[in-house]
Amino acid sequence: MLTVNHKQCTGCGSCIDTCPQLAVVTVRDKYKFLYPSVNAEQCISCGKCADACPLHHSDSPPPLSPDVRYYAAKALDKALLRDSHAGGIFPLLARAVLSQGGVVYGCAFDEVRHPRHIRVEQPDDIARLQGLKPVQSDTSGVFRRVRCDLEAGRTVLFSGTPCQCDGLRCFLGADGDTARLILVDMLCGGVTSEGIFHRYVRWLEEKIGGSVRSLRFENKPAFGHSPGLRIIFRRGKFRYLLSVPAAWDMLYAMYRKGCISRRACGECRYAVPARVGDITLGRFERIRRAHPDFPYDNGVSLVITSTPKGAGLLKQIAPQLMLEESDLERAAVNRRLVTPIPTHPHRAMLLSDIYRHGFSKAAEKFGSPGLSDALTSLITSALPDGAVIRCDRLARRIRAKLAKKAPSDSLS
Ligand SMILES: Cc1cc2nc3c(=O)[nH]c(=O)nc-3n(C[C@H](O)[C@H](O)[C@H](O)COP(=O)(O)OP(=O)(O)OC[C@H]3O[C@@H](n4cnc5c(N)ncnc54)[C@H](O)[C@@H]3O)c2cc1C
Ligand code: SF4
Ligand code: SF4
Ligand code: SF4
Repeated sequence: MLTVNHKQCTGCGSCIDTCPQLAVVTVRDKYKFLYPSVNAEQCISCGKCADACPLHHSDSPPPLSPDVRYYAAKALDKALLRDSHAGGIFPLLARAVLSQGGVVYGCAFDEVRHPRHIRVEQPDDIARLQGLKPVQSDTSGVFRRVRCDLEAGRTVLFSGTPCQCDGLRCFLGADGDTARLILVDMLCGGVTSEGIFHRYVRWLEEKIGGSVRSLRFENKPAFGHSPGLRIIFRRGKFRYLLSVPAAWDMLYAMYRKGCISRRACGECRYAVPARVGDITLGRFERIRRAHPDFPYDNGVSLVITSTPKGAGLLKQIAPQLMLEESDLERAAVNRRLVTPIPTHPHRAMLLSDIYRHGFSKAAEKFGSPGLSDALTSLITSALPDGAVIRCDRLARRIRAKLAKKAPSDSLS
């Protein structure tokens, strides 16, 4: 029977969909992060759930592929680019798969901002998957559905965080029919929980004195390549648009500093050049230095193809892209390719404040995000790339030492 290691479990959902007895269910811890829980009465001790867990696989993630290629890329279609977090590559990949009769899976918010993986067959629905949702998506039931599609001979594009893609890979197993499966993983900075996100939205509503109608973590019209928030809220009869640079936003600042992410994210095993995905997508950091002639307005993606399947799909959409080949050295300036965002030493205290006293208390303790982020980005933009990576390693070591002294998180 599966023993859930709460420090390392990513919540990928593989064990949940694997159990033939339906004995593994999704539960939430006290901070509303998703975990599996085994109902001992239903369990027949077959061991399938443990076999399907990526934590039990020594090849998770798989070794660095000899076919790996790196690119700077962006969609030529301005509308796609505007609504996507980086260079708008994902919606083009999705369209290509749907046009061949395939199906696409990815993360969408429902009407009550519950993030969940959904299955898409119509091109119009791709928009629901576009854009970053830094909140953990529920995949329960989805891997079984993917297996049905593959067994029915459909091509499947599954997009998600690397841990979710790896969960699906382990769920299908070495004998699974994966010839028609295309995994698209992300360079991942971690996920927060739905509960934290909802508390943040409530705090935001108190601050603006209105109800949030739509919240996106990309705002290209206002901030171009730099991340920003686009919040539409209603106050009385009128609707308003609020544009906030990401560096000034409290949720984003706490997220980027590892204060509100899942525990496994701080030690993420997927922040390495060896990728789970046939294609990996992320932001191309410091594009102006790496590829000075590449137009950087409105976002540029770092695209990594690790398999011939991934390379083939990228080739199909190439006529709809601005594409320039790159290399690991320039790509790895995006630190999510080499190191995770470490857990903040005060994570436990901030999460406890968010749940006991609301987001405002934690925000008060965290301080002003704008100033520290502005200083960090000023310093890092003045340093050569190698120095930034070395500073990052040093900062990790210091944080790890501080974390040992800080109070540890307890789980309910
Ligand atoms: C949780 C998360 C953290 C990320 N952190 C970083 C980072 O630190 N640095 C970096 O360079 N890039 C990061 N990315 C990737 C980046 O933000 C872009 O989403 C990615 O580059 C694809 O951009 P796009 O313009 O091609 O398409 P987009 O339209 O932006 O693609 C959206 C894709 O993201 C998936 N997605 C969105 N939210 C979630 C979620 N909560 N769970 C699973 N899948 C999701 C959708 O299924 C879809 O496939 C992250 C992505 C996610 C999902
Ligand atoms: S050991 Fe088998 S029956 Fe028990 S929870 Fe795991 S998969 Fe289900
Ligand atoms: S399969 Fe995924 S959700 Fe289940 S225990 Fe392992 S990491 Fe956690
Ligand atoms: S940081 Fe790692 S563990 Fe956390 S969501 Fe991303 S891939 Fe999964």
